[in-house]
Amino acid sequence: MNDSVKPFDGHATAPETAAFLNGPHRLLIDGAWVDGHGGTRVTTDPATGLPLATVQMGDASDIDLAVAAARRAFDGPWRRMTVSERTALLFRLARIMERNSQLLAELDVLDNGMPMFIAGLTVANCVEMVDYYAGAIMRIEGTTIAPPRHVAAQAEALTYTLREPVGVAGQIVPWNVPLSTAILKLAPALAAGCTVVIKPSEETPLSVLALGAMIVEAGFPAGVVNIVNGLGTTAGARLAEHPDVDKISFTGSTATGRRIVQAALGNLKKVSLELGGKSPVVVMPDADLSLAIPGVALATFFLQGQNCMAGTRIFVHDAIHDQLVEGLAAFAGSMATGHGLSLATQQGPMISDAHTAKVMSYIDGAVAAGATLVAGGERIDRPGNFIQPTIFTNTTPDMAVVREEIFGPVMTVQRFATDDLDAIAALANDTPFGLSGSVWTRDLSTAHRLVARIRAGHVSINCHGAVGTNIPFGGYGQSGWGREFGKEGLDAYLETKAVTARL
Ligand code: NAD
Repeated sequence: MNDSVKPFDGHATAPETAAFLNGPHRLLIDGAWVDGHGGTRVTTDPATGLPLATVQMGDASDIDLAVAAARRAFDGPWRRMTVSERTALLFRLARIMERNSQLLAELDVLDNGMPMFIAGLTVANCVEMVDYYAGAIMRIEGTTIAPPRHVAAQAEALTYTLREPVGVAGQIVPWNVPLSTAILKLAPALAAGCTVVIKPSEETPLSVLALGAMIVEAGFPAGVVNIVNGLGTTAGARLAEHPDVDKISFTGSTATGRRIVQAALGNLKKVSLELGGKSPVVVMPDADLSLAIPGVALATFFLQGQNCMAGTRIFVHDAIHDQLVEGLAAFAGSMATGHGLSLATQQGPMISDAHTAKVMSYIDGAVAAGATLVAGGERIDRPGNFIQPTIFTNTTPDMAVVREEIFGPVMTVQRFATDDLDAIAALANDTPFGLSGSVWTRDLSTAHRLVARIRAGHVSINCHGAVGTNIPFGGYGQSGWGREFGKEGLDAYLETKAVTARL
């Protein structure tokens, strides 16, 4: 790195972060750090545009090596390990991550741009998640069932089920919460007894590579976890189609999710998908606005809107529309924008130039389509990719800004005049997505009746995006297949084998 520029807007990192950035950034295959066959890529700090590190890139041949290593580990040492040993390894990893929390948080701040308060929260959640799945290993249980009639009629018999690991799992993750989306997949897969080849996003490989060093330090056998950084179209595509991968778990856009499904058809591997969203936020006339104004604003602007569960379609009753909008606009205008390493920062940059251009094109398109801009709408004049928190009113269901996932700090407000919950839910459900949503009201009956009508995998009342380690998360409709977090997250890496013994 060039020391003559202030690399992080003048903010210092911990010494371990500086040391990590200066080190080599290679692929973890079969327990060894190796160069990839896909050249190198410079990863940059989106808050400054300056380079952070040069990272080795894997291609299809590296994926092949990693899958072969994962298969050997699955058939060999990992399979033979007792559940107590596997539990101990995961608990050990959690302690190493905890000790390195500052490093992991700073790497996500630098590579992704997220504010430190979010990175700190996600690292703590990641540690909790490894502990949770470590503790779940000993609770993996089958059942006993009455044997089938034709066997039981002839002899004493016994039927039971075994829960077995799916096998070699391929995992492909996005850039928006790099460590968290990786741990969400790694921890349950390892707890289930799978081995893993994980491909971080090429935009944000650093925290997952740092995690790789912690996995090695914890003592996982070679090949149990392989990390192949690389492009989606080469490394990612090979992992999704690989004939010796038993399951692919993907988090990313709905468009790429479709490609994953196509690629997985060859060997009909199991597929889990955590995809995009365009989540509704419904504000009823009796809502507590002192809660709703900051809560609704952050439903959109948390993580600068680069958040799959962002609540970006706001539906508000006529009676409080103007008051809510006024509060939201004031909140948006007051958000402290800056480098994520500053503890004051509430709003960081977009991930890249290309993504900034895409978000700006939605903003320009909304203005052209006749929506009313009431906050933001501009790029911020400073280095990096910053866009003002932006709010549109007078939006209609046909506008692209309302229909498509923008993945940026852009909120659309629509008003309704009815008290008919079916009609309100129809507005909220007018989307191909179904990931998240929230309802803001003081009336418990209204809240639960509306929640029951909203088609989404995760709906909150008087808060938004209340995800948790033990709470299942995933999408209806085109937001995905399956669930992560909690027990369902573990089930996604387990097969059920039914056994009948004629005794
Ligand atoms: P993306 O789909 O562009 O990329 C995601 C990952 O897929 C990256 O690692 C990329 O390299 C890889 N990839 C790209 N093309 C591929 C291909 N043809 N084959 C295999 N892999 C390929 O998504 P992104 O821009 O990194 O992330 C943003 C998206 O992720 C948003 O749509 C967001 O909603 C979604 N997301 C969803 C969740 C969830 O839990 N539902 C969580 C976070 C992000």
